[in-house]
Amino acid sequence: NEAKSKLPTYKGLEGYKLVEKMGDGAFSNVYKAIDLASGQKVAVKVVRKFELNSSQDGNKHLNPQFKKRPRVTERANILKEVSIMRGINHPSIVKLLQFFESEEHYFLVLELMEGGELFHQIVKLTYFSENLARHVILQVAEGIRYLHEDRGVVHRDIKPENLLFERVPIIPSSHPVQRQYDEEKEDEGEFVPGRGGGGIGRVKIADFGLSKIVWDSQTMTPCGTVGYTAPEIVKDERYSKSVDMWALGCVLYTLLCGFPPFYDESINVLTEKVARGYYTFLSPWWDDISASSKDLITHLLCVDPAQRYTIQEFLNHPWCKEAPAPLPPPT
Ligand code: ADP
Ligand code: MG
Repeated sequence: NEAKSKLPTYKGLEGYKLVEKMGDGAFSNVYKAIDLASGQKVAVKVVRKFELNSSQDGNKHLNPQFKKRPRVTERANILKEVSIMRGINHPSIVKLLQFFESEEHYFLVLELMEGGELFHQIVKLTYFSENLARHVILQVAEGIRYLHEDRGVVHRDIKPENLLFERVPIIPSSHPVQRQYDEEKEDEGEFVPGRGGGGIGRVKIADFGLSKIVWDSQTMTPCGTVGYTAPEIVKDERYSKSVDMWALGCVLYTLLCGFPPFYDESINVLTEKVARGYYTFLSPWWDDISASSKDLITHLLCVDPAQRYTIQEFLNHPWCKEAPAPLPPPT
């Protein structure tokens, strides 16, 4: 197999057999792999050390080819990602199983998410029905609730590329796009709303590369007391959680219609649109989508972070509490 022969070997990763590449980013490659000691299927995120930095202090270097050396701050970043993930245990969050490093790489061994990115499912299906979108977004929201309220962690990079399906989702045959698929392929399964989502399966939050712990009276008790904390700190920490809520609004919007709320070919125009919170529920795509979901999105894509919904307000919104519509009678 050609794809397999292209897989690299990493010094320090001898305990794992790489099976296939699952994703790549600027600084990392993610592989499906087998832990040879246990036989367990896992994902391994390999982070290259020598590209993490822009070295000015080229005295010693790890990779002669690049003559670069990681700076202490960037090493600290990856260790922060690891330490945040280690403190986390929730069904909506990808688990970190192991962490180790070699001279040239950091290795994060993660729970394998065989179904891949939510992003790819949106592309495949064009858009999600409201029930399907609710099923997905509530799982993500439960993960965010746990991070914000139980752990004092802000993720800061919530987006469809960082939301992963545990296994390949079986899309409901009632989905308009799927209907066409079904005529060609055999029907693999039925989506049963209210029963753990039937075939669509679990969605989890990945990629804690940008996450940080915020000051939180419940999870962290810094040396000072609340009474001595400056207002800009209190406000800043409160508002930093709201970045995840904005992102959650963008994901929900995208799920429901198939395109993001803010887009422009020009980065300057796009930046201006985001800054002003300028988006619309574009006709005809949004015509048949419920007023309730629009109301919820409006409270998330709200420029003033003080007005924006918190995760608890999100979860209490009527749209989140709605039971999925009953299945149509069998034909
Ligand atoms: P980066 O910081 O480069 O964005 P990510 O942690 O987001 O790193 O991983 C990059 C991509 O690799 C993801 O978008 C996803 O496609 C894939 N990936 C990451 N973690 C897993 C996992 N546990 N299981 C399956 N695929 C994963
Ligand atoms: Mg990512």
